[in-house]
Amino acid sequence: MASYKAPLREIHFVLDDVLNVGSLAQMPAFAEVTPELIGGLVDEAAKLIENQIAPLNAPGDAQGCKFDNGEVKVPDGFADAYKLYWQSGWVGLCNDTEFGGQGLPYTLSKVVDELLCSANVAFALYPGLTVGCFEAILANGSDEQKKTYLPKLGTGEWTGTMCMTEPQAGSDLAAVKTKATPNGDGSYSLEGGKIFITSGQHTMAENIIHFVLARLPDSPPGVKGLSTFVVPKFLVNADGSIGARNPVNCVAIEHKMGIHGSCTTSLQFDNAKGWMVGAPNTGIQNMFVMMNLARILVGMQGLGLCELATQNAIAYAKDRKQGKAFNGGATIIDHPDVRRMLLTMKATVEGARVLAYETGMYVDISHHHPDPAVREEAQDWVELNTPLVKAFCTDSAVDLGSLAVQVYGGHGFIREHGVEQIMRDAKILCLYEGTNGIQAMDLVRRKLMLHGGRVPKRFFAKVRAESTADTPVGFIAKPLREALEDLEKTAAWLQESFKSNPDDAGFGAVDFLRAFSLVYLGFNWLRMAKAATNHADAGFRESKLNTAQFFASRMLPQVHALCANVRTPASALMQLSAEVF
Ligand SMILES: Cc1cc2nc3c(=O)[nH]c(=O)nc-3n(C[C@H](O)[C@H](O)[C@H](O)COP(=O)(O)OP(=O)(O)OC[C@H]3O[C@@H](n4cnc5c(N)ncnc54)[C@H](O)[C@@H]3O)c2cc1C
Repeated sequence: MASYKAPLREIHFVLDDVLNVGSLAQMPAFAEVTPELIGGLVDEAAKLIENQIAPLNAPGDAQGCKFDNGEVKVPDGFADAYKLYWQSGWVGLCNDTEFGGQGLPYTLSKVVDELLCSANVAFALYPGLTVGCFEAILANGSDEQKKTYLPKLGTGEWTGTMCMTEPQAGSDLAAVKTKATPNGDGSYSLEGGKIFITSGQHTMAENIIHFVLARLPDSPPGVKGLSTFVVPKFLVNADGSIGARNPVNCVAIEHKMGIHGSCTTSLQFDNAKGWMVGAPNTGIQNMFVMMNLARILVGMQGLGLCELATQNAIAYAKDRKQGKAFNGGATIIDHPDVRRMLLTMKATVEGARVLAYETGMYVDISHHHPDPAVREEAQDWVELNTPLVKAFCTDSAVDLGSLAVQVYGGHGFIREHGVEQIMRDAKILCLYEGTNGIQAMDLVRRKLMLHGGRVPKRFFAKVRAESTADTPVGFIAKPLREALEDLEKTAAWLQESFKSNPDDAGFGAVDFLRAFSLVYLGFNWLRMAKAATNHADAGFRESKLNTAQFFASRMLPQVHALCANVRTPASALMQLSAEVF
């Protein structure tokens, strides 16, 4: 079984020494949120998660969810753990205090998400989508809807879903068919089928609130004709008590490659009663409130699995004796190839943690800073970073899960060690909330072009400014500047070629996203190396500086090959007919 210990020293280093999380307290909304308060809460969350939730990970995977006569049974222990989790305040950590939340920084909730996803990523989906559903109703719901649903969604007492996908409508939501017909009393009757709906049916909470994408009878075709509706599993009486069962039923659950403890349901809406959230035909914009935050959350799932894979691989490599190494050592950590794998894992997860937490801080600043210009700049960063966090952290979870199995050798392939579960759990992260291919297109087609290219320009300028002084971290500053130059050149090439041949952009998008992410990680490693240079703990300092060295010499240069790929026109490849493929 994989074991999990929260990497508290790493987390505190990133929050305090690299990102200065204490700066959030300069905003009136968080005036009382000191670094000590944040640190204390992270430590508390770690205790609960390590002791109560991590032990359910392997048994939950083995047992899975069961569907019986319209009801879904989650794995043993999940219901009690969920109750403990929401009642301890962790679901509502950053939710609005007016609706049962604690009003703490979003950044803190992302740190807790990382811990929870390392411990048990399948379990983490229950609170995760609940917070997304809360945010979507908060942003566009009427006062009545907020009063009815948010107090219990805000604490996690009720759970939430996001209902978009249908058999013919996956990445392309324009094809959504579920119909919403007005009843004449302000409510709507929803009819249609949704597939792959996470947490769509269970009995861990007394109510489930579905946030549904559907089409009005007279709406225009395509995405412009979609609206959003809130559809509760149980109708809610005027006094807030639970009313009649609404006809939204689970007709099946999926049998999946991983995340077995999370129920993935097919839901049938048989004239289920719902209420429109926001204006007619603004469904896609309303859904994006939830989707943007959910994309960052999925990135945290990836980060959590990267950490789990890395810490288990390191522990195993320190223990497993096999062969004699050139340096005379007898454990596999002494073999250069094993060290290569472990350093790749360390460099990736520690660098990605800075990207993910920094994105959390930008979300906080974009919502709460008193100066509109600062809020606008922070929002630019959130826009740019979201596809990077989602795609890079989740692709890395698959890569690092695979490396962990490799470090374990044949033992990694055997269930009892638990690292094969990481590989299986990780793959879905690259697929839902917009596949990673779609994330890459978002970066290339939208984010590079947004506000006349202002967004990437900000990033390039910031990295350049940080990497100008060579000492004492010249070993990474110089290759970072070179990689940045190549990335900028490639971004300019894409911005131009997109106008004349969009297939080039489509072909290069995934490589570009990885190149962009590696430059971002280079920027992070530069900042970590600077912060670690005078660290009091010599072992920690040595580990950080050596991993920075590895990243600079082994991972950052990959940017040049990726950029060369991107700049190779794809027109000839697109001319190949599908029949002869
Ligand atoms: C376990 C699980 C849980 C899920 N949870 C939810 C949930 O809670 N709510 C919900 O609504 N949905 C959920 N989904 C659905 C998920 O979001 C979709 O599966 C995903 O959006 C991809 O859609 P698809 O499977 O139809 O793939 P397709 O859209 O058919 O994509 C297939 C391939 O084509 C590529 N592709 C498609 N269109 C383009 C394009 N325009 N440009 C470039 N490449 C393209 C994709 O990147 C992918 O590689 C879940 C799915 C699973 C498996």
